[in-house]
Amino acid sequence: MRRQSGMNRALSRTILLCAGIVTAGCAQGQTGNGAHMDFEKYEPVSTLKVPEHPVSRAKYPFIDVHNHQWNLASQDLGALVKEMDALHMQVMVNLSGGNGSRLKSMTDNIKAHAPNRFVVFANIDFDGIGRTGWTEKAVRQLQEDVRNGAAGLKIFKNLGLSVQDNTGRRVPIDDPRLDAIWEQCAVLKIPVLIHAADPAPFWQPMDEHNERWLELATHPRRRRGTDNPAPWEQIIEEQHRMFKKHPRTTFINAHFGWYANDLAQLSALMEEIPNMYVEFGAVIAELGRQPRMARQFFEKYQDRILFGKDSWVPSEYATYFRVLETADEYFPYHKKYHAFWRLYGLNLPDEILKKIYYKNALKIIPGIEWTIN
Ligand SMILES: [Zn+2]
Repeated sequence: MRRQSGMNRALSRTILLCAGIVTAGCAQGQTGNGAHMDFEKYEPVSTLKVPEHPVSRAKYPFIDVHNHQWNLASQDLGALVKEMDALHMQVMVNLSGGNGSRLKSMTDNIKAHAPNRFVVFANIDFDGIGRTGWTEKAVRQLQEDVRNGAAGLKIFKNLGLSVQDNTGRRVPIDDPRLDAIWEQCAVLKIPVLIHAADPAPFWQPMDEHNERWLELATHPRRRRGTDNPAPWEQIIEEQHRMFKKHPRTTFINAHFGWYANDLAQLSALMEEIPNMYVEFGAVIAELGRQPRMARQFFEKYQDRILFGKDSWVPSEYATYFRVLETADEYFPYHKKYHAFWRLYGLNLPDEILKKIYYKNALKIIPGIEWTIN
């Protein structure tokens, strides 16, 4: 991996500021008083006056299908439920359930202290894949985890990126040694939420044309070479092949499958792979920069889109609600390294909102008691 020196970094910041953001009076990337200004610091106050409708609480109760709580076994669930209530989050899906006794201690805590407010997805332990009996053991573990209350399976991005078999070879997402696991999920009637690869720009040159340049500058470990450990397209295609190979299994493609910036392509995939659902965790800024195209997508696939957020920062949910519910214009997003642009609301009708917020999740995630209409 090519390392960028501090001086190079400063240089590319200046280039970016001048090339993309400001043209007039910025030849040296300088402020009015002559001091150098980095791209990260450029935060102009918008002079636009338009109606504003911030939304701190969702219009309907919702199920967040993409959340991570690592200490759900010992955590004070009452405190967490209070934060959820403030957002109108009725059910949180914790994708970090692990397996075995770790998972069971989570479902036990939920049963004892907050029944019906949390759902736990199990995870596969890929250690030792390739050894005789590994697949059978993984299937048995999953069966046990579902008996202990797991309502789904979550696959982290390590599959396809860092998981290796017992001979040290990268395990592709469509590896046949995993087939029995996906088939078992259909038998157990549980969905598989899977995050594959990362945004494509992480594989592309880190230069003034890269839309994720700031994220790579602030999080250098996210940067990959063109084929580290394989080309982006290859990993994504492995995922799609695996979905198609297991049509009886319901898959939730996390982060809109990294196609939130290309909804025509995602639409084609939705047509090709009817057992694939999507959730928009961490990609709401992609939808909010194309409100008309995104609204068409939500209208067309309203039965296969789920609400997901990923990182648990309660204050950030307001951006998601505002994009989905309002017709607001040019409002800010909360992470400049995801989006240096502003967002527009999709103004979704109530019937679609209800599907996104809870109806679709209730359809595919088993065991959620829901008394609200
Ligand atoms: Zn996640």
